[in-house]
Amino acid sequence: MSVVNGSGPHAVAASCIFDGVAVVRDNAVIIEGAHIVDVKPFADLPASMPVRVLPGGAWLAPGFIDVQVNGGGDVLFNDTPTAAGVNAIAAAHRRYGTTGLLPTLISDTYDKMRVAMAAAQSAAADNPSVLGIHLEGPFLSPEKPGVHDLAMFRAPDERDLKLLTSWPAGAVLVTLAPERVPAAFIAELARSGVRVALGHSMATYAQTKAAIAEGLTGFTHLFNAMRPLGSRDPGPIAAALEAPATWFGMIVDGEHVAPEMLRLALRGAARPMLVTDAMPPVGGQTPSFRLYGQEMSVRDGRCMRDDGTLAGAALDMASAVRNTVRDLGVPLTSALRFASTEPAEFLGLGTMLGRIDQGFRADMVAFDPSHIEVLETWVAGQAANHKTRH
Ligand SMILES: [Zn+2]
Repeated sequence: MSVVNGSGPHAVAASCIFDGVAVVRDNAVIIEGAHIVDVKPFADLPASMPVRVLPGGAWLAPGFIDVQVNGGGDVLFNDTPTAAGVNAIAAAHRRYGTTGLLPTLISDTYDKMRVAMAAAQSAAADNPSVLGIHLEGPFLSPEKPGVHDLAMFRAPDERDLKLLTSWPAGAVLVTLAPERVPAAFIAELARSGVRVALGHSMATYAQTKAAIAEGLTGFTHLFNAMRPLGSRDPGPIAAALEAPATWFGMIVDGEHVAPEMLRLALRGAARPMLVTDAMPPVGGQTPSFRLYGQEMSVRDGRCMRDDGTLAGAALDMASAVRNTVRDLGVPLTSALRFASTEPAEFLGLGTMLGRIDQGFRADMVAFDPSHIEVLETWVAGQAANHKTRH
């Protein structure tokens, strides 16, 4: 990966720019420092301005934002909860167009949570692509553990609340089972700016509605590891699909959820986000890894424990966009919104990220639209060329 440091105002021109709302043709994005200062027709650029013209046919779009990344580049966040580990995961995902992410800690001890938060915080101080942290668990339902270690599950106490609300500068996302936490816990998190998502939960419809009323705004990997839709037992999925001010994560890898179910979800009121739930093999060299001391491996595109339980995914964001267009029949521009604009808004970063517009941070991805092959990315105005990696 070659990184080019932009200095004064410079432009990136593309035949198609999707700005998060619409496609504009033959325009250029003017970047100064970390930010976008203007988007204007290529023909109107001052003659003196340095311009990078993308290859014919390439698209430029807001950089992808992935709120669920357990690992990448042969690094698992649970095993390497350090700033260097977080940076290695971010670097592995960047070549697939991810310019912002939340390193995601799978249910672990209080001490590991504390160390992981400090690591993400320290990485975020120097690396603008680290947007915060996602703590998936440990306040989850023992009836829906997935690959999480049941021994880690517990109810939150005062110490947890203090820890989770201790990071004012970053986006903290907590996935929990509403029926396993005390009354008002969700409200207290939400009041402190923590994003709360339902996941690994047996919450009923009524419990989910109550959680939404308290401030829950997310659903982690909708359909997986939660009470299923039932004719007389609607559960969290029905509640999510009726709630316009909520977002749900979709793992579009063809393994986690049938495309028909995801198409059903897209007809609801909630807002979709593409997530990878990625594990260390994504952007790495080794098709296996250890989680909780147990061997996990990638077989036929699935990350699995020996007993066949899915253990995250072998998915990257560029593939998620490609699969969304191909398997869900969604227009490319919608898939790009699900990969960037929607997660930015979910995290409360919608005035800084997820759009290519004046005042937004210059986080962008250039790609070949036929295969969603990533050519270049920009994070806070810093360019990286990925073409040579393919
Ligand atoms: Zn999960």
